[in-house]
Amino acid sequence: MGKFAEADAIISKIAICKKCKARNKAGMDHCRKCGYKWMRPKRKDIRAKK
Ligand SMILES: [Zn+2]
Repeated sequence: MGKFAEADAIISKIAICKKCKARNKAGMDHCRKCGYKWMRPKRKDIRAKK
């Protein structure tokens, strides 16, 4: 869970294509850009600076 609820809601609706890194809507089966099958959800946790 991030700092902003609105951002979380938007981020949770985005999936990233593992091949071309295009943003897709979550729940889509294939990348709209390249048709690649595997997508990951956009990273939700905020990575703190080292
Ligand atoms: Zn793609």
